[in-house]
Amino acid sequence: MSETLNIQVRLSAIPCPICKQSQFSINPQTEKSYTENFYKARCNNCAYTFTVSTPTKPIRETDPDVDQWLGGLSCPSCQERGAELDLRCVPSVRDCIYFVTCKACRHPYHENAPMEAYE
Ligand SMILES: [Zn+2]
Ligand SMILES: [Zn+2]
Repeated sequence: MSETLNIQVRLSAIPCPICKQSQFSINPQTEKSYTENFYKARCNNCAYTFTVSTPTKPIRETDPDVDQWLGGLSCPSCQERGAELDLRCVPSVRDCIYFVTCKACRHPYHENAPMEAYE
């Protein structure tokens, strides 16, 4: 599966903050940072756009606070603690959503990050 298609599939788990539909088109951005690749997600229904990023370096090296938070997440499928970051997005000013995979059973799920805690 291509990365953009993979992101599209994962994002279908969340609603558009404007129209509440869950169909997004994903386009890679030329903008990159040392630690992340960026994508633009565009709602197929209302054309609202927001940024999605995927880590290109292990999160424990680039953002130890987030790594610690991921380590404390508990999987909704097997209840084990610990998750790997797949991608994150900021669909609105209040939301920062992390899409993760359970380290124990590989179940994919997402969590709203407590953004302010890291400011
Ligand atoms: Zn929308
Ligand atoms: Zn699990």
